[in-house]
Amino acid sequence: MTLRKERPDAHEPPAAWGSPLSRLIVHLDALAQNYLSLKKKLGPGADLAAVVKADAYGLGAAPVAQALYAQGCREFFTASIDEALSLQAALRPLAAGKGQSPVFYILNGIHGADPDIFAAEGLVPVLNSLPEIRAWAEHAGRISRKLPAVIHIDTGMNRLGLNVTEALFLAEDRAMLKALDVRCVMSHLACSDMPDHPKNREQLDLFRKAADALNLPARRSLANSGGIFLGPEYHFDIVRPGAALYGINFAGANPMRRTVTLEGQILQVRTTDRAGSVGYGARHDVAAGVRCATVSAGYADGYLCSLAGRGAVFIGGQRCPVLGRVSMDSIVADVSALKALPVPGDWAEIIGEHQSVDDVAAQAGTIGYEILTSLGARLKRHYEGA
Ligand SMILES: *Cc1c(COP(=O)(O)O)cnc(C)c1O
Repeated sequence: MTLRKERPDAHEPPAAWGSPLSRLIVHLDALAQNYLSLKKKLGPGADLAAVVKADAYGLGAAPVAQALYAQGCREFFTASIDEALSLQAALRPLAAGKGQSPVFYILNGIHGADPDIFAAEGLVPVLNSLPEIRAWAEHAGRISRKLPAVIHIDTGMNRLGLNVTEALFLAEDRAMLKALDVRCVMSHLACSDMPDHPKNREQLDLFRKAADALNLPARRSLANSGGIFLGPEYHFDIVRPGAALYGINFAGANPMRRTVTLEGQILQVRTTDRAGSVGYGARHDVAAGVRCATVSAGYADGYLCSLAGRGAVFIGGQRCPVLGRVSMDSIVADVSALKALPVPGDWAEIIGEHQSVDDVAAQAGTIGYEILTSLGARLKRHYEGA
């Protein structure tokens, strides 16, 4: 048997061997600008808190919260107590000596957590039901201290919080309310990303009615990101954006700046030597002579399988459609149309200047929130512009 001698590949090897193959750049300067531009939209009485649950929507909660703290943000919402405790530690060095400790509100409430830790750490639970309010008030009685709390009224989500009937019932129980230092009464909008939806006004009216009935010396909070764009009536005393801070669009031409760039490295460029197919399931047919670039990002990095046949990467600013199914660690892009053929080690833009998180979400048939929170744990996050 004679071995055919193959000419070695003329391409250069990747420039940085051993480096992570994909990179996620988090633009903290853009995040800071988003914070400030949302702040400008608020009336003088309203404070801007930040929602940093789910690792700040996948961007990395500690550096995100630190960057927001540097812009004056002092109130943070997390989903769980664990998220709050780790952020409290991350912000401690910044807050030291300033007398401006950040306040953490835990959206999931005391549910399943140790109330002593809440009390000891000064964390503020969002209380989502009458039994939860009662339990927290009883804990306050046991330790002979008024305990801080947010009361959540459900005005239309049917997810968490007291319904309006329960809120009116609570309003009668002044003894229980006295045990608590109710800092805020809040509700959450179901349709704030649809400015014309009648449910917005309905929830606004119900929220006013329930908060008035509670008649507490507490601040009020209704608006998430979309709610901020509904106008000042929706702002009350604290607004709670997440998505808009991270660049997701709630207006016509997006006023928010992009906070992430995701790029995959090209691993190989190959030319099909015959007609065939690309990827698992042989679902995408290709002719001979198609130039394919294999890019180092797949569904394990958050490039959703639903992007098969719909997604694209940008190489040298040009759109290159993704061929076939998404693999765990890679996708294949058609680079036949490129004038200059890319080489291994070149970068392919997945989220960036040419396609936003919202664009990728639209291609995938989902929302920007899911794209951000799916960004894989193994992607190394590079923080720029702090
Ligand atoms: C997640 C969440 C927010 C933030 O919503 P965005 O749409 O990301 O601004 C605000 N309030 C509550 C109760 C939430 O669960």
